Amino acid sequence: MTGKSTDYDPVEVATLSEASLAEAVRQALAAFTEARDLDELKQARLDHTGGKSAISLASREIAALPPAAKADAGKRLGAARGEIQAALTTRQAELESERDARMLVEEAVDVTLPAERRPLGARHPLETLMERVGDVFLAMGWEIAEGPELEAEWFNFDALNFGPDHPARQMQDTFFVDPPDSGLVLRTHTSPVQARSLLERDLPVYVICPGKVFRTDELDATHTPVFHQVEGLAVDKGLTMAHLKGTLDHFVETMFGAGSVTRLRPSFFPFTEPSAELDLRCFVCSGKDPDCRTCKGTGWIEWGGCGMVHPNVLRACGVDPDVYTGFAFGVGVERALMFRNDVEDMHDMVEGDVRFSRRFGVEA
Ligand SMILES: [Zn+2]
Repeated sequence: MTGKSTDYDPVEVATLSEASLAEAVRQALAAFTEARDLDELKQARLDHTGGKSAISLASREIAALPPAAKADAGKRLGAARGEIQAALTTRQAELESERDARMLVEEAVDVTLPAERRPLGARHPLETLMERVGDVFLAMGWEIAEGPELEAEWFNFDALNFGPDHPARQMQDTFFVDPPDSGLVLRTHTSPVQARSLLERDLPVYVICPGKVFRTDELDATHTPVFHQVEGLAVDKGLTMAHLKGTLDHFVETMFGAGSVTRLRPSFFPFTEPSAELDLRCFVCSGKDPDCRTCKGTGWIEWGGCGMVHPNVLRACGVDPDVYTGFAFGVGVERALMFRNDVEDMHDMVEGDVRFSRRFGVEA
């Protein structure tokens, strides 16, 4: 670098000469023009106005000039800088507007392209069926009750009058939950909600409980280890089997049409006494078609169980059986879907294929 000197001739300082400044400007302008996009322009700007550019080197030389020469050199340098800056600003504006125009083209949306359609789902018919059952009873002033699927063995069996060695505990093929002394099972029926409802609510109690239940069955055309029941329970003063029958007849009439009736056949369940099997008059042939597929010509469709709540169940839940009586019933939801909608294979219900669900209509 040139040292400070009083007899220094500015003309001899090459970087500040008119010719070299003009050359620096020419090169800078050429580089800006050649830049094809904003990135290239940025690089050109660094090359021609940055710390190592000819113009920067020249401005550093000014300090070394004798005072008399500084003004002239400064003026030349300022003019060169101004010219470079103006060219840079112009090119910057040009490239930005080019980029904006390109983005408008590249990111344009073709509104005529076919839209990507989202396949519409459908609620599972078991869900809608359970809701419909719930609605029938809500309309009569009953409440919906719920209980846990992982249930205390006490609620699932003991409270319902199953003795400790009652064969039903095995008969029902229960899923017991580890460890063996956990006292927990996957509920085998919705009946534990009877006991829970009686313990949780004030009398009288009118509840309907739709829910999932579990048994160790293999999945085949008519069995599944996870299925659904709807349980009903009424406990009040003076309830009799006649109230049970009337309630069930109203229920099936609402679900299956006017004229539907039920038939009760004597049976046994630990938690009801007397107990009955619940059959439904065939809603397709009303018992008039010996070749009817729905009832297989019998005129009746087996659907569930029912009875008067056993006094031991009432007692276990703190209800005085001398003052209150109650009735209960339980029906299978899968079974209802099978005979009501002609579903022949349980696999269709559990495999989750929306084509199956859609047949029943898309309900919100
Ligand atoms: Zn029939």
